[in-house]
Amino acid sequence: MDLLKGYPGHTAIIVARLDFEKKFIIFNQMAGFWFPYWWLLIPAIILGMIAQSRVRSTYNKYRKYRTRKNISGAEMARMILDNNNLYDIPIEEIPGQLTDHYDPRSRILRLSTNVYRGTDIAALGIAAHEAGHAIQHARSYFPLAVRNSVYPVASFGSNLGPILVIAGLFFGFFQPLITLGIILFAFAVVFSLITLPIEFNASNQAVKILQKSGAVNQAELEGAKSVLSAAALTYVASALASVLTLARLILLSRSD
Ligand SMILES: [Zn+2]
Repeated sequence: MDLLKGYPGHTAIIVARLDFEKKFIIFNQMAGFWFPYWWLLIPAIILGMIAQSRVRSTYNKYRKYRTRKNISGAEMARMILDNNNLYDIPIEEIPGQLTDHYDPRSRILRLSTNVYRGTDIAALGIAAHEAGHAIQHARSYFPLAVRNSVYPVASFGSNLGPILVIAGLFFGFFQPLITLGIILFAFAVVFSLITLPIEFNASNQAVKILQKSGAVNQAELEGAKSVLSAAALTYVASALASVLTLARLILLSRSD
């Protein structure tokens, strides 16, 4: 969910690269010393840490399990795209770990080297998930359209919103500035909430497709599910962080 990289659709599957909530945490660490309600973020930070470690551990575990049919992530994604008449969407290999994403602007599916070349359960799960985003885009999946439309404001509202609220508090409770900050940040909250159905839908589709394709057996399918549900938890943590940050901004704006 790399907001700053400018993918209005999707994004890497993993929280490690999530500038979005890194900023929440940095903001709250800074603000925590100066402002009340710092404790409000604790559940989101704990959930975020649990999600990160679960993603790492399940990914590292299922990376080791080669699937029996020896199909690579790139081959799997190609098969899924072709089955959905998306022949014109290229699949590119990109550097980095878990940098996989579908870019709706250029309509390119980008898979990290381990996923692109890997024939393991984690690689197939992630490749199928990202192909799921391409299918969502092609079918004009409604939550994706909503997310794309809030993206421009959400991308700067996530940073600027809290800054405006704090500035408003410093300048003797200057209400218009505080209200503007809260409204801007609310766009970031909508973005992170609408991401949940998008991610769950892509993962559900991925599991169904993998099952139908016959590329994985039942045990392998369970492994792919574990990887995808660990990844989904990172988005839940991120959404919780944004909701709680909004609650905190509202509480701050009302305290005197
Ligand atoms: Zn996704």
